[in-house]
Amino acid sequence: MSSPRNSTSSTSATTEGYASRPGGAQAELLAEVNKHESERNLGLVWAELRNYQQGIMPAGPGARELTEFFARIDGKLAADDPGTPKVQAADRDVLNLMTKRAATLHLGTSNYCWFTDPSRALCLKLAGTPAADKPLIGMCDSARCPQATHHPRHRPVWAEHAENTKTFLGQLGPTRKTERKRLETEYGRAVRVLERIDEAAVAGEPR
Ligand code: SF4
Repeated sequence: MSSPRNSTSSTSATTEGYASRPGGAQAELLAEVNKHESERNLGLVWAELRNYQQGIMPAGPGARELTEFFARIDGKLAADDPGTPKVQAADRDVLNLMTKRAATLHLGTSNYCWFTDPSRALCLKLAGTPAADKPLIGMCDSARCPQATHHPRHRPVWAEHAENTKTFLGQLGPTRKTERKRLETEYGRAVRVLERIDEAAVAGEPR
């Protein structure tokens, strides 16, 4: 596994205990969980838009696409001229776009997954299920997937992963050549992810 300790969404675990309850309790709970997740995701997308506006850019293979999306939203917001009748429609347009983007967001421990196109999902390719309608977060390889982004909030997980990998490397005996090579690759990848997060965090000019 190339990404540190990714885990699946909490939805399945949370709802497990309700599966056998009568009276549609499970459906009700699921609807509530979905609503909660949609609101949380929308909040996260707004937070990342604010980061973008302050010059804190996303990193990772999907960073460019996300940055372009934020530039589009930012342009629409900047074009708003308070007091004109067009503003309400423009606000609705922005909210619509942000909500759509939030609906694609899945949370990995070490990355955001913007699941906009199953055919581009590396996890699905690896699993041989390219048409699935959900990402396999547990198989996420965010350093290589075009739908993944890394943000400063993911830094501690990558830093810990790099540190642990370095420790394992130090403990390997001289005969463990294959394992050493694997861990060196993993360590190098973690360090590069950290470097990109740090570079991106100071890449933009605050607006
Ligand atoms: S490999 Fe890509 S699509 Fe799959 S979970 Fe990770 S970021 Fe999402």
